[in-house]
Amino acid sequence: MPELPEVETIVRDLAGLLPGARIGAVEVLRPDLIDGDEPDAFAARLKGRTVRDVARRAKNIVVGLGGERLIVNLGMTGRLLMAKAGDEDPSHLGVRLSLSNKRELRYHDVRRFGRLWVVGEEAWRSFDGGLGVEPLSDEFTPDWLHASAGRSRVPIKTWLMDQGRVVGVGNIYASEALFRAGVDPRRPANTLSASEATRVVQGVRQVLTDAIEFRGTTFLDYRDASGERGGFAERLKVYDRGGEPCPVCGTPLERLVQAGRSTFFCGSCQR
Ligand SMILES: [Zn+2]
Repeated sequence: MPELPEVETIVRDLAGLLPGARIGAVEVLRPDLIDGDEPDAFAARLKGRTVRDVARRAKNIVVGLGGERLIVNLGMTGRLLMAKAGDEDPSHLGVRLSLSNKRELRYHDVRRFGRLWVVGEEAWRSFDGGLGVEPLSDEFTPDWLHASAGRSRVPIKTWLMDQGRVVGVGNIYASEALFRAGVDPRRPANTLSASEATRVVQGVRQVLTDAIEFRGTTFLDYRDASGERGGFAERLKVYDRGGEPCPVCGTPLERLVQAGRSTFFCGSCQR
């Protein structure tokens, strides 16, 4: 599932390509991908609009259209790709936006857990307000994390993955961040000291920044806006490496299941 670095990579690519393009025909081939509006109404809200900007909020791609916004959530296997008009369609094409510059923005999704929807100003504010803190923003500070985590007994790894608290940190980067922080993922959130909270904030910021630099992590499905794989998978230190030696101390890395998701950690380095 794409997490913050993967979505940020796509957003940065599209931010260099989409602004100024005018949306022409909108073709919905898979109506179940559209939320909020019937497919015809969805298409009508987009047609004729000019893209102003492309941004990210949590794991969502937000295409600003002046008053309205198109929001794309990639779900598990969604891809949002720029293509030339007339290029062969990918399999599992769900939505096609024809653009004024003989290009197309195509959404395709094998498993169809992704969603596209259009919001006006008020719906946007309500959506934005329901999401947690952006981990690369100035709001994500050690003081904030220490105070918020102090009110919860949930294991810190599960706590970090709650999108109502911190957005964009999923299963891969939560494991990686806690390894960098030297904090055991099973620790109840409210047992973290101020200095551990500082290390968790630094670990989260560092792993997300590094992953963006390498254009995200691809195991199977994630592709950037040009269809290329991310380069960060081989740089993961613990995720999916159960039984391999810890890159710091050599102890075999452990795997356990928390809230139904695999966690990887070093029982020696992480306390
Ligand atoms: Zn270790």
